[in-house]
Amino acid sequence: MEDTRLPHIAILPTPGMGHLIPIAEFAKRLIHHHDFSFTFISIAVDFTPKAQKAVVDALPMGMNPIHLPPIDLSDTPRDSKIETLISLTVRRALPSVRDVLTRLKSTTRLVALVADLFATDAFDVAAEFGIPLYIFFPSNAMALTCLVNLPKLDAMYSCEYRDLPEPVKLPGCIPLQGKDLLDPVQDKKDEAYKWMLYHGNRYSLAKGIILNSFVDMEPGAIKALEEINSPPVHPVGPLIRAGSTGEESECLRWLDEQPIGSVLFVSFGSGGTLSWEQMKELALGLELSEQRFLWVVRSPHEKAANGSYFTVQSSKDPIQFLPTGFLSRTKNVGLVVSSWAPQVQVLSHSSTGGFLCHCGWNSTLETVVHGVPMIAWPLFAEQKMNAVMLSEDLKVALRPREKENGLIGREEIARVVKGLLEGEEGKRLRSRMRELKDAASRALSEDGSSSRALSELASELKGSKMLT
Ligand code: UDP
Repeated sequence: MEDTRLPHIAILPTPGMGHLIPIAEFAKRLIHHHDFSFTFISIAVDFTPKAQKAVVDALPMGMNPIHLPPIDLSDTPRDSKIETLISLTVRRALPSVRDVLTRLKSTTRLVALVADLFATDAFDVAAEFGIPLYIFFPSNAMALTCLVNLPKLDAMYSCEYRDLPEPVKLPGCIPLQGKDLLDPVQDKKDEAYKWMLYHGNRYSLAKGIILNSFVDMEPGAIKALEEINSPPVHPVGPLIRAGSTGEESECLRWLDEQPIGSVLFVSFGSGGTLSWEQMKELALGLELSEQRFLWVVRSPHEKAANGSYFTVQSSKDPIQFLPTGFLSRTKNVGLVVSSWAPQVQVLSHSSTGGFLCHCGWNSTLETVVHGVPMIAWPLFAEQKMNAVMLSEDLKVALRPREKENGLIGREEIARVVKGLLEGEEGKRLRSRMRELKDAASRALSEDGSSSRALSELASELKGSKMLT
């Protein structure tokens, strides 16, 4: 007898706002446009912040969130990189994932498991249940190309990638200096590198890879991935969170009072942190630029650029780390908020004229969708690759130059901020960003490339049969 229940998908994201938000948007589109239902399996660690739990708890009907028991990571070395911690979290959560799938298999019409980029351990569980596994890759085609080619690069080069004399040429991508490749591949001795190789090798086991990018943004890289077709890639982006309407916040009220296109928004994603020295230079550079700014500050972190990744909120009041007198000297042109701002609403506000951004992929897509030109200030993960794409390939961002000691000085910051908001270069970037915004909107229109990719994927998922 025909099974008339909605096709059901188990979703397995890994911790981190940048992972949760796009995979949830992907699921929402399949619910609204293609009649699927979901179980959203949320894995948390002991210190998962409220903001992440809130995203999961606010999921709409049809998403059925389940919080697995928190994973204990207290035995991991203190200097473990974020990719190691996330991958270990998934491995330790597998018994609970298995329990959920056992239940779903007997109570729903389960057609697939969609796991995100660091959850490739879930292949083994999916195979036990005879369900196809798709990877949801929340970043772009260039980062995906780097990851799937990593085993090959590893065999080709014995030195660290940053010591390579020539740029690395990934299929369909702009050539990249070794130092700009993914952050977790920058130290081959680190556990994180081994995990990246492990995941890169296992991607070939997927039934398909769902990509949060669109053809007109990365034509070369997407074409090269499609030519290999192993596994097939489904570019369905840009998947971004819709800003909630009517949200009240100090930032939005302040933006209402500023002239159109005059404000630089400054933010480093959900977990990005600067050193104290760099935070000071940024403050003094903003002041020197004499431009309006809205800055989301976080307490400095001397060692890790993703010091707040798992926690989002700064542990100490970040305002106390600003240079003495900075707030009073800039009070007529700037607003500083602590730890968090409603980013999508800020980007869609008519007073926002530029975004100094850490180039996290969600932030990048949100910026593209709202047509705001950027200053690229990458910190970790694949952000340096994104910065190269945005500044050298798409030419929608300025990239400030670091000094030899790795710091970006106040004069350089003032130069790019003025250049973006006032200069001729800024006008050219703005106009190219508008073209990209139009391309994003076309991709998502009814017959656009991403809508078609999503429809084809939905048909494939509906037709997919259990293997056992
Ligand atoms: N975000 C926000 N307010 C903030 C900081 C971040 O709303 O103050 C949101 C941002 O809009 C984006 C996500 O958090 O959707 C950050 O994701 P991204 O991939 O850019 O960076 P990550 O946080 O993973 O480094």
